[in-house]
Amino acid sequence: MAHDGADEAQAILMAVTELAATGRAFSARGWVPATSGNFSRRIGEAAVLVTASGTEKGELTPADFLRIDLDGAPLDELGPRPSAEAPLHGAIYRRFAGARAVLHVHAPATTAISLGRRDAVTLTGYEMLKALAGVTTHEHVETIPIVPNDQDTTRLAAAAGDQLDRTPDAHAYLIAGHGLYTWGSSVAEARRHVEALEFLFECELRRGEQR
Ligand SMILES: [Zn+2]
Repeated sequence: MAHDGADEAQAILMAVTELAATGRAFSARGWVPATSGNFSRRIGEAAVLVTASGTEKGELTPADFLRIDLDGAPLDELGPRPSAEAPLHGAIYRRFAGARAVLHVHAPATTAISLGRRDAVTLTGYEMLKALAGVTTHEHVETIPIVPNDQDTTRLAAAAGDQLDRTPDAHAYLIAGHGLYTWGSSVAEARRHVEALEFLFECELRRGEQR
């Protein structure tokens, strides 16, 4: 057990370092304004490290994180409250065994493109698609589903989970007027997905202006 505890302490330390660095980078680009967004990293079979509610993502310290289970419930009695959206992280980890990190941002192109479209954004023809895990050609067709926003985050997590069941090949999903959820086998991979998708959505918006 002592060995497991040491492993988890090590996993927590690494997760805090990686997620804080991600927060500084995303904050500098205006993707997590006004304490929005939340990040998590799986640290064990049934444990996830997640950002606490109301934290400034550009200034994350170890005190801004807590451990939750895959339903989003805190594993420690003391400590900060999890983000209200913690159940959305669990919905991803429970479905995709390969998901080890989940990143949620309120980035401008991501948010803009999620409104005014019916149920998905389809991306194809872009070299940047190859930044998505397993994609090897610009001819790939990536369909990013859009889930309606809901202030009841338990209901929102259920709706997002149902959507993920219907589109298991998607690398991400949008919440209408709200933001993006994406994941990866590491924090670095999830971060690459956020960067690529925000770029691709920005391209789609600019193409729309030209038509
Ligand atoms: Zn949000």
